[in-house]
Amino acid sequence: MPETYVHKFDTPTFKGEISVPLGLYIDGKWVDGSSGNKIDVINPSNGKLITKITEGSPKDVDLAVAAAQKAFDTTWGLHKNGFERARLLQKLGDLMEQNADKLAALEALDNGKTFNWARTTDVDHSIRCIRYYAGWADKILGQTIETSEAKLVYVRHEPIGVVAQIIPWNFPLQMMAWKIGPALATGCSVILKPSEFTPLSALFVAQLIHEAGFPAGSFNLINGYGHVVGQALAEHNGIEKIAFTGSTLVGRKIMEASSKSNLKKVTLELGGKSPSIVFDDADLEQAVKWAAFGIYYNHGQCCCAGSRIFVHEKIYDQFMQRFTEHTKSLKVGDPFDPEVFQGPQVSQQQYDRIMGYIKSGKEEGATIVTGGERLGQEGYYIQPTIFTNVKPSMKIVREEIFGPVCVVIKFKDDDDIVAMANDTIYGLAASVYSQNVTRALSTAHKIRAGTVWVNTANMLYPQVPFGGYKQSGIGRELGEYALANYTAVKAVQVNLHLNLS
Ligand code: NAD
Repeated sequence: MPETYVHKFDTPTFKGEISVPLGLYIDGKWVDGSSGNKIDVINPSNGKLITKITEGSPKDVDLAVAAAQKAFDTTWGLHKNGFERARLLQKLGDLMEQNADKLAALEALDNGKTFNWARTTDVDHSIRCIRYYAGWADKILGQTIETSEAKLVYVRHEPIGVVAQIIPWNFPLQMMAWKIGPALATGCSVILKPSEFTPLSALFVAQLIHEAGFPAGSFNLINGYGHVVGQALAEHNGIEKIAFTGSTLVGRKIMEASSKSNLKKVTLELGGKSPSIVFDDADLEQAVKWAAFGIYYNHGQCCCAGSRIFVHEKIYDQFMQRFTEHTKSLKVGDPFDPEVFQGPQVSQQQYDRIMGYIKSGKEEGATIVTGGERLGQEGYYIQPTIFTNVKPSMKIVREEIFGPVCVVIKFKDDDDIVAMANDTIYGLAASVYSQNVTRALSTAHKIRAGTVWVNTANMLYPQVPFGGYKQSGIGRELGEYALANYTAVKAVQVNLHLNLS
């Protein structure tokens, strides 16, 4: 029987105890992994061990696939009607709401995001997402199609079967909600693999899924390393679909594994290098604040982070002065301090990666306006950092840094800026700041990205689709669009009176 970890919090924003099961959740039970191995869970605020979770193995993946298939064939899928699936998801949403502070505290502890941001964005949005998809569960509609009076032709949207979902560490709870919401609403059986860096909130939610009464095997959770459990899921012949959020590098491996196994359907939410475009007719004060939110929110660990900020030459100096002041004013520190905007980066690896990019920016000749250094002696804290004097070929302009680091670039005219903004392999998101609706919208339409925000940034809603153009991904999550990822379309043709002679 796997252990449970109890963490005692005594912080300015949260006090109390939280129990988290440490095992794997397979077939409605908490179980030990077959390898007996554990993975360290590290607190990014101080680099110290929080606890150790069970490491899954390919054998555990086989057990989860068998349990998921059994549930799909007997108690889940089309054996549980839409109204019942909706009721279970609503119950899960209610349980998450009852435990909202605990979920926020786990995110702050494990990921380093601030308790307040986790509570008001990650947790609230996750609950909304689960409830949104509960609303869809009994509204999975097919079509009837007219062909001939002698026939009845109709189309069913059937759940696709057993699906694997692999998620990253930057929004552990939200990514879980985005994935399991549409999958469970449509009746797919799920095997979720959280990131090995941030497993705690998903383990906690698995308890709530159990408590809500989902049938055994309809939801399974296997923690483990990407190249072991993730790879085993991607290669498994018993899995019909894989939904992945993470790096472009691993996205390629998932597609390759699918092509070499059973051609499972693949959707990918990958990286980005999103432009923020500030025109000379923007509301400057608001543009400064939103552009800063666009890059620094969640410590720059957003796939859609506005890491390339383009500013019209007429307002460049004014913008830079205010943007620099604003950047310097952001408080970085303990995620449980209510005044703090930015906590630590998630891990030593990410810390090293970001500092490596800062070093490369300096070596390639860019200018640091503010930031660029570590903060404090322990934990993975990095100062919010602005680079100017950059060239399009520099690594800090081309590659996703995934930290609180941006480049600010001057531009002259509206035609140039579209080409500059689109000069990237990515196409996840963009922001346009202008008071002129024609200019803002015509620019928005020319940007090759799955989301364009006008006079705002980083705003996501469960009912609005999200996903990438170009190498930022394949498919869309959220909204009605996500349902198609989890349903197979079946046309049924009925002969009423078309007789052969
Ligand atoms: P990552 O690709 O290293 O890991 C993501 C997940 O994939 C983890 O669960 C990991 O264990 C697993 N994984 C790693 N190797 C694997 C393999 N060989 N086979 C199968 N699974 C494997 O990414 P990360 O470092 O956790 O997250 C950061 C990246 O995710 C960034 O590039 C970011 O842009 C992207 N991201 C994108 C979105 C989006 O919606 N587009 C959202 C969040 C993060």
